[in-house]
Amino acid sequence: MFGAVVVFIGPPGVGKGTQAAKLSEAYAIPKFATGDLLREALKNGTPLGLEAKKFMDAGHLVPDDIVLSLIREKIQAIPQSSGFILDGFPRTTAQARSLDDILKKMCHNVSLALEFVMDEEDRIRRLSGRRICPQCQRTYHVSFAPPKKDMVCDSDGTALVQRTDDDEKVIRQRSAVYWGATNPLLSYYRDRGILKTVDASKPIDSVLTDIRNLFDQMK
Ligand code: ADP
Ligand code: AMP
Repeated sequence: MFGAVVVFIGPPGVGKGTQAAKLSEAYAIPKFATGDLLREALKNGTPLGLEAKKFMDAGHLVPDDIVLSLIREKIQAIPQSSGFILDGFPRTTAQARSLDDILKKMCHNVSLALEFVMDEEDRIRRLSGRRICPQCQRTYHVSFAPPKKDMVCDSDGTALVQRTDDDEKVIRQRSAVYWGATNPLLSYYRDRGILKTVDASKPIDSVLTDIRNLFDQMK
C-alpha cells in the first residue's frame, strides 16, 4: 500500500486536481482538495460555505479557521497506514504548520511536496477552457480533456459549468495570491529536503507517468 502523505503545490490551472484524481484511482488512496471541499460546502448551503463564498469569488484565500475545520476532519478519518494526496492545501506556511500538527498527532508526516511547473500563458489557456461537473467536481477541458458526450459529465451526466472564479480578472488575482502567499511554501519544504518538481506542461498522461515514477521510488 502507498503510505506517503503528498502535497501538491502550484498556481491555479497547472493540473494538480487532474493528476490528484488519476493518482487517487491508480494507488487506491484518498485525495482531498480544499477548493472542492469549499465548493461542496457552498453547494450544500452550509454557514462555512456561505462565509467562504465572498473570498473565493474575489480570488482571495479563505480564512484558515474555515479551511482547517473542513480539512482536519477529512485527514483525521484516514487510517494511519494509508497515504493520501492534498491538492491546494496547504497554501501558506501557517497552514503547513497546522498540517504538521494534525499529522504529528497521527504519527504521520509529509513525505513529498510536489511543485507543478509550467509556462504562464499555457496555464491561463488551461483555466479559460476548464469546465467542471457541479455535482461530483470532476474536471474537464473543452479541448485538452473533453467529456465523451457534449458538455455533460462522463460519471453522472450532469451539465458541465465554468467555475465563476475562472474569469479573467479573478484568475489574475488568484495567480497573484499564489506568488505572494503560497510560493514561500516551497522553501519550507525544500529546507526539509522533500521538495520535488514536475514538468506540468506535458500532456496529461505524460505528467501522470512522471509522478507515478516519483511515487514508485517512495514505496
Ligand atoms: P489545478 O487543479 O492545478 O487548478 P486542473 O487540474 O483543474 O488544475 O487543470 C486545469 C485545466 O487544465 C483543466 O481544464 C484540465 O482539464 C486541464 N489540464 C490539466 N492537466 C493538463 C495537461 N497536462 N495538459 C492539458 N490540459 C490539462
Ligand atoms: P482551487 O479549487 O484550489 O482553485 O481553490 C479555489 C478557491 O478556494 C481559492 O481561490 C481560495 O479562495 C479557496 N481555497 C482553496 N484552498 C484554500 C486554502 N488551502 N486556503 C485558503 N483558501 C483556499
